Amino acid sequence: MSVVQTVKILGLGAVALTLSVEWLGWLLRRIWPHGLRNRGPLKEVFFFPTEVACTEHVFHPDSPFPCPCPLPHGVETSFSRLLGHIMSASSSLDLCVFAFTNASLSRAVLALHARGVAVRILTDMDYTLITGSQIGAVRRAGICVRCDSGAVHMHHKFAVVDGRRLITGSLNWTLTAIQSNKENVLVTDEPDLVRPFIAEFQRLWAVNAPLRRPPSPVAEKPASLAV
Ligand SMILES: [Zn+2]
Repeated sequence: MSVVQTVKILGLGAVALTLSVEWLGWLLRRIWPHGLRNRGPLKEVFFFPTEVACTEHVFHPDSPFPCPCPLPHGVETSFSRLLGHIMSASSSLDLCVFAFTNASLSRAVLALHARGVAVRILTDMDYTLITGSQIGAVRRAGICVRCDSGAVHMHHKFAVVDGRRLITGSLNWTLTAIQSNKENVLVTDEPDLVRPFIAEFQRLWAVNAPLRRPPSPVAEKPASLAV
């Protein structure tokens, strides 16, 4: 048998194997649409403050190199779980948050934007000016930001990942909230809960104007410890 014939046979074998695996996957999804174990919609709750631990594995899950930072490693915390849900976005992230000063969460949002995920951020106008606000950084990166400047604060703290996963709770996206405050976060892909949050985001997005320029650093106000 010539080398060309051998290569052809191996190629056809590889195609046949790929098609078989695809077909088997399709068949299993038809038989068990929710998987072999029908676990229902995701329902996850976690609380803050979180213990301080390294979260590099969330950003670089396939890195072969150990992280050299001095923080504890191999520890799953409320914060690493939150980051993991945010970084799971593959198509869109709609974020509606009152205060946004946490650098790791900003890094996650910027990483999603860099890999082509459509990110939209709604925030409170007054809190774009607090010390450490990440709104300027995300806006400079080209992320669409709209600010609520109504008579009362836009006090929501929720995100919708890929139009089907809701992250909500008391937690502002600030270091104080994550490391010092008693806070809660609920994550679910229960459609009856996700849908109203999508509608609320669309409603607020429609009535608020885009932030044309990043907030001026000279206008920064001191951060409130309350958030
Ligand atoms: Zn580390």
